[in-house]
Amino acid sequence: MGTFDVSTRFHADPRVVCARVAGGAETIGVWVSCLMWRSANKNMPDPVVGKVPPVWFIPESVAKAELGRRRKPLAALLKWGLWERHTWEGVKGYKILAEKDLWRIKRRAPGVYKRPLISQLVRDSIYARDGFKCLHCNTTERLSLDHIYPYSLGGTDDPGNLQTLCVSCNSRKGVSA
Ligand SMILES: [Zn+2]
Repeated sequence: MGTFDVSTRFHADPRVVCARVAGGAETIGVWVSCLMWRSANKNMPDPVVGKVPPVWFIPESVAKAELGRRRKPLAALLKWGLWERHTWEGVKGYKILAEKDLWRIKRRAPGVYKRPLISQLVRDSIYARDGFKCLHCNTTERLSLDHIYPYSLGGTDDPGNLQTLCVSCNSRKGVSA
């Protein structure tokens, strides 16, 4: 799998690194940036209808601002099912596939998207920082990493966003690392 060439703006995001989409290397970067944009602006009402759009919806105006005049990324986003055309409250735009729904892409094109693993070095450093115990129940058994701000909403693998939870506390929270 080739290295993914993305703009410097998204370069730090671990999710854009090991993906390659036939429609252009930018596609996943654009998709991730829109996920991040939505999670950062999720309480902002749409100027047309005055209501807050759902987090999975990107109005066309926002898509244009993200994509500029480039057509290839948009075509690829639609082709791979990362986005779908959608009208919300009379506003034209796109429905964004959530991170948790990536199985749809995996089924269509196995190997196109692969989420990078958190390295053992980072894992060990988080466990050590948290005293090798679950921060919820203090157990030292079956430890796992948890994203404090969910990965599916744009949370990063940055150590500041990671904490040690046991497998059962982590699954109770509903979001796994
Ligand atoms: Zn626990």
